[in-house]
Amino acid sequence: NSPLLKVENVKKYYPIKRGILSKTVAHVKAVDEVSFQIYPGETLGLVGESGCGKSTLGRSIIQLESISQGNILFNDVNLAKISKSELRKIRNQIQIIFQDPYSSLNPRKRVRDILIEPLIVHENLSRPEMEKKIHDLIQIVGLSKHQLNKYPHEFSGGQRQRIGIARALILNPKFIVCDEPVSALDVSIQAQILNLLKDLQKEFGLTYLFIAHGLGAVKYMSDKIAVMYLGKIVEFGKTNDIFQKTKHPYTKALLDAYPPPNPHLRNKERIVLEGDVPNPANPPAGCRFHTRCPLAQKLCREVEPKLAGNEHTVACHFPYN
Ligand code: SF4
Ligand code: MG
Repeated sequence: NSPLLKVENVKKYYPIKRGILSKTVAHVKAVDEVSFQIYPGETLGLVGESGCGKSTLGRSIIQLESISQGNILFNDVNLAKISKSELRKIRNQIQIIFQDPYSSLNPRKRVRDILIEPLIVHENLSRPEMEKKIHDLIQIVGLSKHQLNKYPHEFSGGQRQRIGIARALILNPKFIVCDEPVSALDVSIQAQILNLLKDLQKEFGLTYLFIAHGLGAVKYMSDKIAVMYLGKIVEFGKTNDIFQKTKHPYTKALLDAYPPPNPHLRNKERIVLEGDVPNPANPPAGCRFHTRCPLAQKLCREVEPKLAGNEHTVACHFPYN
């Protein structure tokens, strides 16, 4: 069983001007030397506060953004290195579901056209075949074929996300980046959408990268979890291990913030995150979390901890064990 996706030492740096008059250019290290693998049929949860680089990473993996360095191997094809035309042939296999179903659907197009467009671009089907496909799919995501003639604004938020999911599925992908797919929705319908994603995963053998800023949905959805802080993965492991054998103080802070209070927490003192996430253009030296970490010591301010361990990895000089 080999990984479907291998992310190797990926960096995504954005240049920014330091001041209005200044010519010096600084770089926001949105994603900084990130590596992980996802196996077929698995869901990897990617969690961290907003601005930590998780959406940038997700968008980079499916090549909506180019990376500064590193490799993104999908079935051993390096998406970061292949030509546009080669990428077009793989495009159907890698898709994304966006956070905001309000802005990710073209308001001037009927649902029918939103769904048919990718088929016209990528597949060679007759009109009746295309119609059959979208009829089947719209029902699979829990809507009816009568709704195909409507425009996005005629739907509720949850229904719009179902349309976004249908659009991601129309080309029979193997891998989908789910970028906070329920954060913009009412709490009452979040579970329906999460369950739909789970059912679809089983039915179509999908592999997910599931991005979220909190651990609740991630715990429900994921086989493994990667915790990201300021562009770096600070802890990676099986979902149960992340919750029950938490190693990184930042992971613990996220768990402590996650209701209901986690009964498995072995370290009694809660960590409450204070202060803002530091500026990613000028991240703290040493461990990037040291400005907010209650366990920080001199070593933490001077030496950057590397991700270490086997199945359950952590980047911390003084991890919980
Ligand atoms: Fe905290 Fe130090 Fe570990 Fe960083 S390396 S998370 S500052 S204990
Ligand atoms: Mg985001």
